[in-house]
Amino acid sequence: MKNILVTGAAGFLGSHLTDALLAQGHSVFGADNLSTGSLANLAHLNAEPRFCFLKQDITLPFDPGPVDFIFNFASPASPIDYARLGPETLLVGSTGTVNALNLARKYNAGFLHASTSECYGDPEIHPQVETYWGRVNPIGPRSVYDEAKRFSEAAVTAWRRYYGVNTHMARIFNTYGPRLQANDGRVISNFMMQALAGEPLTVYGDGLQTRSFCFVSDLIDGILRLAASDEHTPVNIGNPAEFTMLQCAQEVLAVTGSKSQIVFEPLPQDDPTRRRPDIAKARALLNWNPKISLREGLRMSLAYFQSCLAARSSGTPDSTVAALPRGNSFS
Ligand code: UDP
Repeated sequence: MKNILVTGAAGFLGSHLTDALLAQGHSVFGADNLSTGSLANLAHLNAEPRFCFLKQDITLPFDPGPVDFIFNFASPASPIDYARLGPETLLVGSTGTVNALNLARKYNAGFLHASTSECYGDPEIHPQVETYWGRVNPIGPRSVYDEAKRFSEAAVTAWRRYYGVNTHMARIFNTYGPRLQANDGRVISNFMMQALAGEPLTVYGDGLQTRSFCFVSDLIDGILRLAASDEHTPVNIGNPAEFTMLQCAQEVLAVTGSKSQIVFEPLPQDDPTRRRPDIAKARALLNWNPKISLREGLRMSLAYFQSCLAARSSGTPDSTVAALPRGNSFS
């Protein structure tokens, strides 16, 4: 039984991680400034005595008291969110990370940082291995996210090297599932909402760019294994099954049974052409392997996106869409 701080606890990954930690018997202190997270993701924990929520911008000084472990998950994460919140994204991934690392140093706590496949940028090698240094545009539209996450990796490494903090880093690839914001502009949320609403699916560019999608329960399993390990260098956590965006659209149409058309729209600047994790390191070190296929995971996300559409149709803002009651979620 440990006291654990989760930054970004009201977000998609942070809230699922919080649930998993509570299920393991730990006490969780969740910090979030709610810039992209939603209290609806934590509403089911209202009566949970082992959970405490603090509305906190982690770029400002804060101290929850002694903690045994810190999961640093605070950051806008979808391309339209970090384009809207550019300076905030740079600051949470620099000052925010340093504040969280200093808490870990003060309390001798373990630390796991949520890094990203965006550290690889538009990669020249495929699939991406952890030893690849990446190809990132430092001044492009994605730079506020990519460079903040790369700075965070340097900071996490330095706090380990210079101060002996017990750190871990996960390079997280595209992840989806219930609680993914319905309006965050990401491909899975856009396609699912468009398919369910009977609207055209918007494929950007020629739709031949690829991504590799991990269902959220597999991702959280990998994160927990990494936190319990002795590994301190970055580890890719993602599902290596790779899809073009056209194939992804077909998967969504199959799962929803939708008759929506596919339309093509311009490709955003610096959109990576391909992305697929090499997960040999996670397999060997953590004995971890994602289990849920895209088809299965989309099926397990269907009820959630249907509830988002129903709420949108009734005029409820997306940010207040209640997370599914426990019995309806995959967990
Ligand atoms: N994409 C798309 N249609 C959409 C939204 C996204 O074709 O409605 C594409 C986007 O251009 C990118 C991929 O889907 O190539 C994944 O985009 P997402 O925003 O989900 O995350 P990214 O992996 O780019 O950070």
